[in-house]
Amino acid sequence: MNVLAVTAHPDDAEIFMYGLLSIFKKKQNNIDVIIATDGSAGGAQKGQALAKTRANESIKGLNKLTKPIFLNHPDGRLFDDANIFDSLSDCVEKINPDVVITHSPYDYHTDHRTLSKLTVEIIDFRCPILFCDTLMGLNFTPEFFIDVTSEFEEKRKAILNHKSQNPTRFVNAIEINNKFRAAQCNAPLGKYAEAYKTHKSFPYFNVSKIIPNLMTIKPFNVVYKNNNSLI
Ligand SMILES: [Zn+2]
Repeated sequence: MNVLAVTAHPDDAEIFMYGLLSIFKKKQNNIDVIIATDGSAGGAQKGQALAKTRANESIKGLNKLTKPIFLNHPDGRLFDDANIFDSLSDCVEKINPDVVITHSPYDYHTDHRTLSKLTVEIIDFRCPILFCDTLMGLNFTPEFFIDVTSEFEEKRKAILNHKSQNPTRFVNAIEINNKFRAAQCNAPLGKYAEAYKTHKSFPYFNVSKIIPNLMTIKPFNVVYKNNNSLI
């Protein structure tokens, strides 16, 4: 399959979807990652020098998966960039994806929300779309939990390549998120999960058929010793 990640900023693929992309890669799928903005607003010294630094950080962060495709639209301004629709459409046309992973339409970041909505319009009925989790799960109710325990150390290292972003804070945040998502499945301590949901317009297709490493969800049945009541 051609797996296409459509992301807004140079570190998004590593933070939000690295585990699933890595599993897809190890199962012999082709991975492409589009980075829509140049990342020039994400740091203390904003501008083109930062954009160049961040592009190099992405190339290192994703080097086990693919060479990223940079669209270089202005960071933080996707909502009023008239050119993004055409550049993203052209890329999608060339890649011809079988599944697309992008941000949630209810994400906390304006570029993430804008790109998510554009991706839905451009993909249309072409293939299924998966929405990735938000940074701390805000406004996100998962549909699928992917066991990324085996990928988590590689994911941590991939994020740490983004040195210009003080990346430890993102590693810490996503470690909490991925442990929490595993805990929602009642998985044992030490497990990590990434959470996803589908865009519902793709008809007549069971998306779970193409998603690897689905985590088993075990019910919580906690028995109190004193009164045997269940919670
Ligand atoms: Zn981002």
